[in-house]
Amino acid sequence: TLQVAMAFALMSSLYGDFMRAVGASIRVFDLLDKKPEVYCENGERLVDFDGCIEYKNVDFTYPSRPETQVVKNVNLTVEPGQMVALVGPSGGGKSTLVNLLERFYDPDSGSIYLGGVNLKDLDPKWFRQCMSMVSQEPTLFACSIKDNIAYGKNATLDEIIAVAKEANAHEFISTFEDGYDTLVGERGVRLSGGQKQRVAIARALIMDPKILLLDEATSALDAESEHLVQEAIDRAMKGRTIIVIAHRLSTVRDASKVVVIDKGQIVEVGTHDELLCANGVYKKLVLRQLTAGNIVEKLINDDNGN
Ligand code: ATP
Repeated sequence: TLQVAMAFALMSSLYGDFMRAVGASIRVFDLLDKKPEVYCENGERLVDFDGCIEYKNVDFTYPSRPETQVVKNVNLTVEPGQMVALVGPSGGGKSTLVNLLERFYDPDSGSIYLGGVNLKDLDPKWFRQCMSMVSQEPTLFACSIKDNIAYGKNATLDEIIAVAKEANAHEFISTFEDGYDTLVGERGVRLSGGQKQRVAIARALIMDPKILLLDEATSALDAESEHLVQEAIDRAMKGRTIIVIAHRLSTVRDASKVVVIDKGQIVEVGTHDELLCANGVYKKLVLRQLTAGNIVEKLINDDNGN
């Protein structure tokens, strides 16, 4: 239902945007010296997009909850190839910032830019191909594993197998009698949480996106599956711009920038070490995690480099 609502929100906003984009696009190209590869009905496509993302003075309130502003004056730059970790209390607005980047909604004021061009001036079909989301609970369709990985792309079986190997999914897929033709969903096999995630990572890889969006799992997978998922994610992250809603200490440690979000605002930005020294909200968050019994073991494992 959420996805349908998001699709409607996007469609209803597109017509007005299209009309605006017609007038704005020529100016944008002049200003930014970006040449469109193809003029498409809804906007431009960037040649040599480097993966740079910028949020500038972004405000947002969900239309269904007009009384609560969930994003307040967010300014954030993610340089090409950087990994930015979003952390903060539940309900702070992390997922909303990612939703805005995927353009499920448009900011009420302020803008988001890809490669220096306003998202509203870009062809949605193009920028969707630039980014892949791997979420905690990926949606798989009631069709074959092969089609779930290809996700509408015209990929050969060899390409599908190659990304499945990268995503640590090939081995378990090969154990099924029908291999890549195995059906998933109600009429097919039931995959574990970790297996679903690995199929989702393979799906992300086949798009070869410049930007990878990750929502790290909060619920525990079994240790073996956790390891395979993490290894696949680590591989998928190489050479890409990453925004991750982070729950693992090892992720925030590796991040180029940790962004602490609370009540819709960025309250702290820095590396893990810088923020620990700053003795502020981030340190409190880490300490709270450390005292939450169920995570202690995980953190110790992380410390051991597992
Ligand atoms: P969590 O870590 O729990 O996932 P979060 O930091 O990602 O939280 P969001 O999911 O972005 O936070 O939520 C920010 C606020 O927006 C919350 O108050 C939430 O209830 C509200 N919210 C999220 N999605 C919607 C929606 N589709 N419609 C209305 N309100 C929403």
